[in-house]
Amino acid sequence: MQSYDVVEWGKPLQFAMRETPEPGPFEIRLRLTYCGVCHSDVHIRQGYFDMGGGVKSVLAERGVRLPVTLGHEPVGIVEAVGSEVAGVHVGKTYLVNPWIGCGKCPACLRGQDNLCPAMAAMGMARPGGFATHLMVPHARYLVDIEGIDPAQAAMLACAGVTAYSAIQKIGPPQADQWVAVLGCGGLGLIAIAILKALGHQHIIACDIDDTKLEAAQAAGVQHVLNLKKQGPAQLLEISKVGLYAMIDFVGSPATSALALPSLQKGGRFVSVGLFGGAATVPLVALAMREISLMGSAVGCTAQIRELVELVRSGVLTLPSVQTRPLAQAEQSLQDLEAGRVIGRIVLDTGGEPTPAPSVPDQSAQ
Ligand SMILES: [Zn+2]
Ligand SMILES: [Zn+2]
Repeated sequence: MQSYDVVEWGKPLQFAMRETPEPGPFEIRLRLTYCGVCHSDVHIRQGYFDMGGGVKSVLAERGVRLPVTLGHEPVGIVEAVGSEVAGVHVGKTYLVNPWIGCGKCPACLRGQDNLCPAMAAMGMARPGGFATHLMVPHARYLVDIEGIDPAQAAMLACAGVTAYSAIQKIGPPQADQWVAVLGCGGLGLIAIAILKALGHQHIIACDIDDTKLEAAQAAGVQHVLNLKKQGPAQLLEISKVGLYAMIDFVGSPATSALALPSLQKGGRFVSVGLFGGAATVPLVALAMREISLMGSAVGCTAQIRELVELVRSGVLTLPSVQTRPLAQAEQSLQDLEAGRVIGRIVLDTGGEPTPAPSVPDQSAQ
């Protein structure tokens, strides 16, 4: 099998070739066809997340060992299954929930692997989908995507379920009440699509990049704001009484600072983005105005299945994706890091043999 791996933190991905593994009793081996590229792949490659105040969450200190094959939006065709696997069909295409828990703790037993204290995500703590093959530890992580476009389906495993889970935290749409989406990259655009599918009709898209705001406008939001020039005053002007919810796909000190001046009493602010930094919150205002500040991280298999059903039934139209060959994994990360990407990149990992690697082969050094 072939893969593109982080071999040294912060350095370009390297092409690797190794023996294709055989599945253990409960495992399923996929021949991958697609894998989405996520902005968190950029953070994982650099080896840390910025927690604010100069504090870094260093992956090596959290037990992540190199090399790491990135990629946590994998789609593939079942090629081999272990002796104990039931109900999985060889030759069928599945999307994989990459958020793998221990399988034993209360969160895992509820099916919420994403809240498992020992979660070992694909593409970070275990091999991911920037590869030709992927081993899935159990059939419960496979999601049937028959009837929907597999390249677009890839985004549901991270971007889709992350947006969906955050949207579920703001509750159902409320008449004449406004929700703001902060950050209109890949995640923000899919959130706008899901909000609309769930009946939200008053959406304000915010970004600092006019190109991204144009994409949000095309996705059908009612207002766009460029946060370089506009802020709480405009949010209050549009919403009259303040927003009832904000979903922050940036996660910076600047975006979180919009919460208290822009929300109405009882409003909810859901922090999703991993840009990094810290926020100072006036606690009295938080209490007196009943503001909820919440975090949201990825989601679970059941939520991915619900999303697939929304797409299959025609209620949810996913943003289009740009597919690139697997060999462009490194270039794709660089483009994402530089903010040059509109929408979602999906690597085409299957079919034809992978083109010659664009980065040096490890064995050649
Ligand atoms: Zn992701
Ligand atoms: Zn667990």
